[in-house]
Amino acid sequence: MPDSGSPGRDVLIIEDNRQNLELAQFLLEEAGHSVRSAGDARSARAELERQVPDLVLMDMQLPGTDGLELVAELRGDGRFRHLPIVALTAHALRGDRERFLAGGCDGYIAKPIDVAAFALQVEALMPPHPAAGAGPAAEVD
Ligand code: MN
Repeated sequence: MPDSGSPGRDVLIIEDNRQNLELAQFLLEEAGHSVRSAGDARSARAELERQVPDLVLMDMQLPGTDGLELVAELRGDGRFRHLPIVALTAHALRGDRERFLAGGCDGYIAKPIDVAAFALQVEALMPPHPAAGAGPAAEVD
């Protein structure tokens, strides 16, 4: 398997809007990633407890939760301190990008999703594949 960094990453999408979730999931699965999803902060925590994903896409407007509060909570937990978190949000006002990045997000993708570019945008924010560097010397293809 070529070590291009694209196949087989584990992505958690935290998004309460079903259409957005289904589109994002479809596009990432088409690109070869495995996708888990959560519709609110509570099920997001449960998914994160189950397994730490390679990257989180997080809608910043979740029911009953300010996305930045959830990000701050995760950053306060050593297991998730370096977890890539990408804000997925309809907030497109100037200043939001800076606000989310200052709040602990590693990147920002605006909604509506750009169907042609989305998977590449997400992949650009992925950490290097474990086989390429740190981590247990397990995955040898
Ligand atoms: Mn939402």
